[in-house]
Amino acid sequence: MEKNIFNKKTKIVATLGPSSETVEVLEQMIRNGLNVMRFNFSHGAYEWHEQVMKNVRIAAKNVGVPIAILADLQGPRVRTHVAEEVVIASGETIRLFDVSQTDEEIAQQAHDVKYLTLDCPHIVDAISVGNEILIEDGLMKLKAVDKTEQYVVCDVVDGGTVKNHKGINIPDASIPLPTMTKKDYDDLAFALAHDVDYIALSFVRNGQDIVDVRQHMQKILGEEVFLPKIVSKIECKEALGNLERILTATDAVMIARGDLGIEMDPTTIAILEKDILEKSIHHLRPVIVATQMLASMEHNARPTRAEVADVTNAVADHTDAVMLSGESSMGAYPVESVATMAQIAAHTECSPYDDIHEAMSIAFSSEEVRIAHATYDFAKEMQAQAIVIYSESGYTGRMLSHYRPEQQIIVVTNRQKTYNQLALVWGVQSFLAEGKESREECILHAIDTAKEKGILYSGDLVITILGTTKKGKKLTLTGTRLV
Ligand code: PGA
Ligand code: MN
Repeated sequence: MEKNIFNKKTKIVATLGPSSETVEVLEQMIRNGLNVMRFNFSHGAYEWHEQVMKNVRIAAKNVGVPIAILADLQGPRVRTHVAEEVVIASGETIRLFDVSQTDEEIAQQAHDVKYLTLDCPHIVDAISVGNEILIEDGLMKLKAVDKTEQYVVCDVVDGGTVKNHKGINIPDASIPLPTMTKKDYDDLAFALAHDVDYIALSFVRNGQDIVDVRQHMQKILGEEVFLPKIVSKIECKEALGNLERILTATDAVMIARGDLGIEMDPTTIAILEKDILEKSIHHLRPVIVATQMLASMEHNARPTRAEVADVTNAVADHTDAVMLSGESSMGAYPVESVATMAQIAAHTECSPYDDIHEAMSIAFSSEEVRIAHATYDFAKEMQAQAIVIYSESGYTGRMLSHYRPEQQIIVVTNRQKTYNQLALVWGVQSFLAEGKESREECILHAIDTAKEKGILYSGDLVITILGTTKKGKKLTLTGTRLV
């Protein structure tokens, strides 16, 4: 079992919820290949998040592998604000209000015409005639046909029952909310107080959004601390237009196909996925493919063939990680979903289809990039079994991962945060070396631990890099045959 989880190189992210909140289930998920636990701050009380984060840390310790906690912030999400359910029929005309007016004012103006209210002040101003308004993941659709200062007149294109607090997408309107709302700042403060490893920003629109959040975290935590890394969720049109700038500013990327498939024509999503994957890897940013990957496993013990093919394709396109949402948070088969993903990843990694294009290029060049590339070539030439790296920040490990080598990448670090964060990075197995003085001692410790865990054996050829430290910027590359 243990060897299995170390062999798989593609990482698995699972969203947690009522189906996956106990130490017991979390442990089983980890033993089946789970690497990153996602807390969705659109749902759940702080007490729940706090308790389950504790459970995650316990489960990770019990199994003895690095697990990253990702806090996913809701972002500028517009929602319905209705006192009771409203049934809208295709073909009828309704009015759309927002909460810049009181419920009484709205009721007065609506007279006896059917209406809906959105919870975002001034969204009515932001909607133009011709815009499409999608309700509950695109289940229902309206089209703006006229407007006054107080409301938008909409034709119902696809009807249904509108419930309270359901998500709204208006792909062509500029939503009058900041990327980080008041709720997001509160949730971020909570996440930082609970020492999370990654923060995900929903509906990121440009590079500045990311720079601002990083600065804000630095102000709260101080200069000395390793910050949680920022995952930018690509899920709106505006982000696609600013993709290069976002990739430059962010630490990692999530291809959030749920909202992206509502904001964009869903028949273009698979191509967008390939495009964002390639660009993220080119920019050295770990990337997650998310949403509906094994959706039918929310209710069934086995996935559909199409779902298996979807995960296979993401792995073959060299994603760092694949993600579970409802399957692991609310579904009947959270552990089986993880096991299925792990199995698909392992099979795909063995196939010729995930072979990397010769020496992938990186968007920038530096001494470290050249050394990583040389290490990749050296390890390949020597037919080495593993590359072992000492790294404080994990940077050298992420660079090596970028080349997607055949070898295991073992990163030894003395920083808990780096140890956890590398759980998201393709092909990297991280080890924590606490209380070791020198980099050489850390490397030896990692090799010994890897042998104990059955990742390395006597006779294996190992390439080692001693990474940079704050004191000296020396990088040493050696090849060692293990005794
Ligand atoms: P969500 O993000 O689950 O937080 O909406 C993922 C997505 O949109 O795909
Ligand atoms: Mn989303």
